Amino acid sequence: MPDTLNVLILGGTDEARRLAAALAGRAGTRVVSSLAGRVRDPKLPVGEVREGGFGGPGGLAAWLAEHDVHVVVDATHPFAARMTASAVEAARRTGLPLLILRRPGWREAPGDDWRWVPSLEAAAGLLPSLGERVFLTTGRRSLPVFAGLDGQWFLARSVDRPGPLVPRRLEVLLSRGPFTVDGELALMREHRVEVLVTKDSGGEMTTAKLLAARELGLPVVIVRRPPPPEGVTSVETVEAALAWLETATGPGPA
Ligand code: NAP
Repeated sequence: MPDTLNVLILGGTDEARRLAAALAGRAGTRVVSSLAGRVRDPKLPVGEVREGGFGGPGGLAAWLAEHDVHVVVDATHPFAARMTASAVEAARRTGLPLLILRRPGWREAPGDDWRWVPSLEAAAGLLPSLGERVFLTTGRRSLPVFAGLDGQWFLARSVDRPGPLVPRRLEVLLSRGPFTVDGELALMREHRVEVLVTKDSGGEMTTAKLLAARELGLPVVIVRRPPPPEGVTSVETVEAALAWLETATGPGPA
């Protein structure tokens, strides 16, 4: 065991920030959190942070060696499939232990009317049959996929302003969770929303929109997650990640 355990957290999620905070207090552990660097004013984790892509698996493998990293935790968003694939490949090349921390997806409950689709494109294809007034919560970078739908009106909520390729009939709401059910109900009523579109991101911060859609009897188009990589240990909670770090690397010196 090294005197100091160097952990790289691939972040950008609430779980990644909570893991960084928990490890910051652990003696003998040094944590660096990595962010993609695309959000203008990101919520920062405690401790050391680096920003920007690594340049693919080769770049990440080189970075891990250069910074003497001992273990990698991929706590990126469930839809950040490229970063995850890159982490898997870099771990294979360097022989470093890799853990995937992914919060569970959402589950339908009685009263829900969810339409599962495999992609954003499939979500766009389904919308004309479901309603005209759409609440789109799939992120600003997904807006080009819906740009060809002239028959729909969109309320798109995102953290940062979308780019130039967007639907013709669009209102943008710049906002960041967590959201409340009362707030979501008021928003959907005010804009006479007929259908909600979301990714299966999971987590507590943005479930309110799903509960509001249930209460209003609205259909929800929900994009399935990309499949998890095979052969990599995966956990669903920060607590389980901390336990894995203990067993995979042994307890810290103090
Ligand atoms: P992605 O498509 O898998 O990533 C694209 C590229 O961005 C990666 O290949 C990598 O570039 C770079 N990158 C992504 N995450 C990084 C990280 N944590 N640190 C350093 N570089 C990173 O992922 P994405 O959907 O663009 O998501 C980017 C970030 O936003 C992630 O950190 C994710 O947790 C967060 N986020 C994503 C979503 C979503 O819906 N996708 C939602 C909320 C938060 P290189 O190949 O050059 O290394």
